[in-house]
Amino acid sequence: MRDSFVHRGKRRHLLNYLMEKGIADSRLLDAMNQVPRHLFLESVFEDYAYEDRSFPIAANQTISHPSTVAEQTQLLQVKEQEKILEIGTGSGYQTAVLVAMKAQVYTIERQKELFDFSNKILKDIQLRPKFQSFGDGFAGLPTFAPFDKILVTCGAAVLPIELLKQLKQGGLMVIPLGKGDEQILTRFRKLSDTSFEKEEFGLYKFVPMLNNTQK
Ligand code: SAH
Repeated sequence: MRDSFVHRGKRRHLLNYLMEKGIADSRLLDAMNQVPRHLFLESVFEDYAYEDRSFPIAANQTISHPSTVAEQTQLLQVKEQEKILEIGTGSGYQTAVLVAMKAQVYTIERQKELFDFSNKILKDIQLRPKFQSFGDGFAGLPTFAPFDKILVTCGAAVLPIELLKQLKQGGLMVIPLGKGDEQILTRFRKLSDTSFEKEEFGLYKFVPMLNNTQK
């Protein structure tokens, strides 16, 4: 598969749809226009890659809806050169969008199969993060902390305290929180080591954030 005229046309349509849904961050829209989402999917889904749908990827995981990627990223208010920690690399699509926004991206995935897949595709399309880790996102990446922003792309039943510790003062963390089938998309702003501002942005369905790694 490659990126053709047809793919680019479909991508334009998707962007118009996202703008109608209220996505206004122009750097985010440019990045989503640049990243060929069909390359992150199994070839059977190629024709549907630019519809607002999630799809199964390896290891029983899913690539998020483009609208979810857009909403989460918009909430993160990404600026050039910011240090961003992503938990749940998955296919690598969200990672690619952050890299295309010229952020310095550090990303963690607990499924070996997806770690390997995303590693290869991000290399192939030359949107490589600063650092890609096979590990447990609950621990974050203390060696590279603190981060300007943290983005969690799996649903956390409990708030991962370690991640809040690795956030800079004034930094933002966007995370789906909830114990059941659905999670509340939540944004924390770190005011000081002990105080945080919390905002909530509606219900979403994410795959669960799990402990440890899976080979
Ligand atoms: N951003 C991804 C979304 C993938 S779904 C994409 O665009 O494709 C969420 C991912 O989080 C899954 O791949 C899952 O394996 C991973 N995940 C779940 N718990 C994790 C943890 N503790 N640490 C790292 N990754 C985790």
